[in-house]
Amino acid sequence: MVPAMPARWIIHLDLDAFFASVEELLRPELAGLPIIVGGPPEARGVVASASYAARRYGVRSAMPTAQALRLCPQAVLVPPRHSVYREFSDRVMAILYEYTPLVEQISIDEAFMDVTGCELRWGEPLELAAGIQRRIKDEIGLSASLGIAGSKLVAKIASDYAKPHGLVLVPHGGEAAFLAPLDIERLWGVGKVTARKLRAAGVRTIGDLARLSREQVESWLGNYGVELWLYAHGIDSRPVVSDAGEPRSVSHEETFARDISDPTLLDAELLRLSERVGARLRRYGLRGRTVFIKLRYSDFTTITRQQTLEEPTDMDMEIYRHARRLWEKTWEQGRPVRLIGVGMHQLSTASWQLSLLPADSEELVRQRQRALNQAVDAIRERFGDTALRRARLLRRPRR
Ligand SMILES: [Mg+2]
Repeated sequence: MVPAMPARWIIHLDLDAFFASVEELLRPELAGLPIIVGGPPEARGVVASASYAARRYGVRSAMPTAQALRLCPQAVLVPPRHSVYREFSDRVMAILYEYTPLVEQISIDEAFMDVTGCELRWGEPLELAAGIQRRIKDEIGLSASLGIAGSKLVAKIASDYAKPHGLVLVPHGGEAAFLAPLDIERLWGVGKVTARKLRAAGVRTIGDLARLSREQVESWLGNYGVELWLYAHGIDSRPVVSDAGEPRSVSHEETFARDISDPTLLDAELLRLSERVGARLRRYGLRGRTVFIKLRYSDFTTITRQQTLEEPTDMDMEIYRHARRLWEKTWEQGRPVRLIGVGMHQLSTASWQLSLLPADSEELVRQRQRALNQAVDAIRERFGDTALRRARLLRRPRR
């Protein structure tokens, strides 16, 4: 008997030829060329990523660079720049977190999201996935493939199947039929050795494995075999384990499409980010004790500065005031900025009480401010982020 699964919707997102695509994006003169990101052949480097133009020649990730260059001698070899890829990855993940906190990043260019129940706000799963794919393309310039299914296993295989720049939804109940014709090696957990063993026994596709009896597979491969047999039926109940369950810090950052050195625009951005940090703290019911800012110049030099407050806060203007002070101490006036970020750590639960202090006290002012912040949050929750905006934010830098 194959156990029944509760209906979930899980998306697996995988960026296409990620490192090579980032290089192509930052160096437009490379567009469409075969690109290999990897270590030099003389140092026995391997391919970390290859553009689709290079893959046409048989170049693959993890292949020795020397071999890759023999297959495709005209390829452009680019040394990897991990801090750059990390930044792009963070921007992609930030988009995912806008849809749900249930995001599990499994590598620099891959993540699961559990979007069960998100349709009220974001539409049907396929529509939602298409929206994410479009935003990653429009806002960041990268191509992603997404698989949508009732389990992690099937979603991951579906995204692989969708490559490049595709979307594949496997309907509930359709898992076994989707998997059946695929090569046994596509199944999670089947390595080269197991695949060889299975092939020797006549098992070539996932469907071949599913058609065997559970006992048969168990007698060959033990408990591991039972797990594979369940996978072959599309059964996988592993949950998406969110990285954001208990945030240790809350932050927002913005990478500009063009570097900015105008102090007014940068200040407006600091305020906007501070407001987003405040809103997120209040949504989680948290307050933060340490404000930090992040500043990245156009040459990727990155600086972070922080300041610890006397009392924890969740108020936009307080966060902004401190962020602003840190900013003034840090930024070299006029030097072009690529990214700015504002955040808070040292978080604690916001269990403040109504104060019994007299009406003109500072605490009352703070309470009013807090009530105002909450009203603004409620309106934004209902009508979206752009519904209310401080007047000075109307002059925002263009993304
Ligand atoms: Mg990838």
